[in-house]
Amino acid sequence: MKIIMLGAPGAGKGTQAKQIAEKYTIPHISTGDIFRANIKNNTELGKKAKEYMDQGLLVPDELTCDLVMDRIKEDDAKNGFVLDGFPRTIPQAEALDKALSAIGESMDYAIDVDVPDENIVNRMSGRRACVECGATYHIVAIPPKQEGICDKCGSKLILRDDDKPETVQKRLDVYHEQTQPLIDYYKKQGILKSVDGTQDMEKVFADITDILGA
Ligand code: ADP
Ligand code: ADP
Ligand code: ZN
Repeated sequence: MKIIMLGAPGAGKGTQAKQIAEKYTIPHISTGDIFRANIKNNTELGKKAKEYMDQGLLVPDELTCDLVMDRIKEDDAKNGFVLDGFPRTIPQAEALDKALSAIGESMDYAIDVDVPDENIVNRMSGRRACVECGATYHIVAIPPKQEGICDKCGSKLILRDDDKPETVQKRLDVYHEQTQPLIDYYKKQGILKSVDGTQDMEKVFADITDILGA
């Protein structure tokens, strides 16, 4: 099963993608996580990506596409994968379609997690991410058992630099301009499914599993 998660920053793509990956035993591929790991390890890619991410801008397609195309060719992705945060532009979507059609394949589902802008700033300012394993929480909606500590690995939780309100507004603008057109792109392909992302996390996941089937 090959799935794309669409939605605004903070809509809950990552939260849902992790659960999908677990239930269907496919890898969760998050470009944001890949960039953050590169920043942490101080790689050349990380240095370049950081300049854009800090401003709430997209990392250029040239730095993003090859990385994903290589990742989906890895062994663990041969039965499918869930893409979280990619594609984010029409050229990225076209690059993905081209790479898949070259091996006689195509995407199965694009799931749009729909959350209005009004809810996003609250989602982002309450988001806390684990510095080690990338697990995410929300201080009100999805709190960790112990404040500031990751349930999964015991490491410290932080507010991402790009989740500060100034940057969030910019990211929302970028989303509407560059990423939202993908909704139509996948509607035309007949693989778009929408879920109401304002519901609680469990209900959103139940709606998604209804779409994907047992
Ligand atoms: P969120 O889902 O909250 O928007 P992500 O972790 O997906 O956050 O992305 C964080 C940042 O990483 C983005 O704002 C952007 O700068 C960069 N990024 C992630 N994925 C892509 C992509 N596919 N294309 C370009 N930039 C990306
Ligand atoms: P994205 O990957 O789309 O940027 P996340 O999955 O990181 O979004 O979720 C953004 C924030 O909202 C996180 O703090 C997360 O814990 C919280 N969150 C996710 N799903 C829900 C939900 N259904 N209701 C309330 N908060 C949620
Ligand atoms: Zn952790």
